[in-house]
Amino acid sequence: MAGRNFLFVPGPTNVPDRVLRAMVVAMEDHRSPIFPELARACLNGLKPVFKTTTASPIIFPSSGTGCWEAALTNCLNPGDKVLTARFGQFSHLWVDMCERLGFEVELLETPWGEGAPVERYLASLSADKQHKIKAVLVCQNETATGVTSDVAAVRQAMDSVKHPALLFVDSVSALASIDFRMDDWGVDVCVSGSQKGLMLPAGLGVTCVSVKALEAAKTATSRRCYFDYADMVQANASGYFPYTPSLPMLCGLREALAMLAEEGLENVFHRHAYLARGVRAAVLDGWKLKLCATAPKWYSDTVSAVMVPEGINGNEVIARAFKRYNLALGAGLSKVAGKLFRIGHLGDLNELMLLGALSGAELAMLDVGVKIEPGSGVAAAQNYWRSHSPALPKGAAAKVGRPA
Ligand SMILES: *Cc1c(COP(=O)(O)O)cnc(C)c1O
Repeated sequence: MAGRNFLFVPGPTNVPDRVLRAMVVAMEDHRSPIFPELARACLNGLKPVFKTTTASPIIFPSSGTGCWEAALTNCLNPGDKVLTARFGQFSHLWVDMCERLGFEVELLETPWGEGAPVERYLASLSADKQHKIKAVLVCQNETATGVTSDVAAVRQAMDSVKHPALLFVDSVSALASIDFRMDDWGVDVCVSGSQKGLMLPAGLGVTCVSVKALEAAKTATSRRCYFDYADMVQANASGYFPYTPSLPMLCGLREALAMLAEEGLENVFHRHAYLARGVRAAVLDGWKLKLCATAPKWYSDTVSAVMVPEGINGNEVIARAFKRYNLALGAGLSKVAGKLFRIGHLGDLNELMLLGALSGAELAMLDVGVKIEPGSGVAAAQNYWRSHSPALPKGAAAKVGRPA
């Protein structure tokens, strides 16, 4: 098909040309005396992205899922209890992994379309007088439903009852797109991957581990080897890896981190919030459809899950968009299969790219019989973007929490 494929799944995201070019390199000796320069650029460059000065970024040759497993097996003993909530396919898969690895899960079943139920986390933590819960798990951005949770509030709940559990956060589809604060929020392990906000191909598990979590790992007896934090931290200290790292991916990561630093992380967050509001204007005001996220407080700035009307199969919209218009939209997963399609709006993105995606989604919906006004979504997004500034308001960077 002529022209570009429009990639609007919420990961993998569009890789900037600059990053692609940085990845075209001849192989080098990863034990050479100059290799640590690249390793350090990546590891040190990740610290501001995680907003940490004390925790250790770790790069595994995996995807985000590998970092879920690393968090559990490095920090916990076999059979340990974890507290978590399930409200979408990704939070579900982490629960599933906990169970398959033999951990005991206290599960807060939550309607899909809502986020982490902070009051219920608090109730479970305050009932746990003997501190049987060893880790609290939160999915910051549930990519399946387009829902963002308040991680800081979960930390507050833990602190309010002085609960000593570790806090593990899945920030795979939030890091470098929606505010994340390792140090301020007292996060012990942050799990992410290369193919979302970091604008790279899939292939790196990008994670960050607190001093407290590394301390717990010293005595935790769950079996692990390839994903051992201690091996990694020890090798990284001298600028090397315990096994052969992917040179092109590290070169790409260094370039992506440079791009994020040049734009400024707070500007990156603001751009995502601004673009997301345009998409929501298209969905809600233009097409007059609903989002899977049930209240504005849950709206995600990286992915919107658009509910299709009764009698329409969301998969038909996605198939039509792909086959006829060369546009890749995200599918509804598991419980919400067929009920929605997702528009990823994270990474290297601007208004006109998104207008292409909105226009394509509109064409595909019209083709399969969704009763929307032609041009209505595109017009609503245009109106939003024309009447709002993509620039960060002065003083906003210092504000705590999500961008207003
Ligand atoms: C994409 C994603 C994952 C899975 O990451 P992989 O890199 O595919 O292993 C986990 N959690 C969330 C929230 C995600 O969006």
